[in-house]
Amino acid sequence: MAEKCELLETCGFFKKYQESWSVACKNLISKYCMGPKMAECKRKEYRAKNGQSPDPDMMPTGDRLKA
Ligand code: SF4
Repeated sequence: MAEKCELLETCGFFKKYQESWSVACKNLISKYCMGPKMAECKRKEYRAKNGQSPDPDMMPTGDRLKA
């Protein structure tokens, strides 16, 4: 299994939140973007369905982040 999501470089969520100090963001990144739940990412699902990426504030869980 890949150790990093193949969309990491272009993913709006990752780009925006990779430097975040928020524990929630760190957990999501380590579970989804660089971890075992990568294939379950809702952003990927959205992209496949809609042909375009969701905005950066949609989390890999499908919930929305509020700044
Ligand atoms: S949020 Fe989803 S699509 Fe984006 S890098 Fe993480 S696992 Fe990949």
